[in-house]
Amino acid sequence: MQNKCVICGADLTPDDIGASRKLINRGMDKDFLCISCLAEKYGVTVEKLKEKIEYWRESGCMLFAPKE
Ligand SMILES: [Zn+2]
Repeated sequence: MQNKCVICGADLTPDDIGASRKLINRGMDKDFLCISCLAEKYGVTVEKLKEKIEYWRESGCMLFAPKE
């Protein structure tokens, strides 16, 4: 699986990939964006997006691995 952001080339975390899937296309398997580029694309702050990720994770969204 591609593990670099297609826009800035940053290394992707599983959360970045989960957020790309959640926001762009659930079935996507490439062209993932890092959280900074996602925030920019959707006009939100990185902080806000991180809050969203935690919210999705807590809601049991399968795109985000549960925290240990
Ligand atoms: Zn990026």
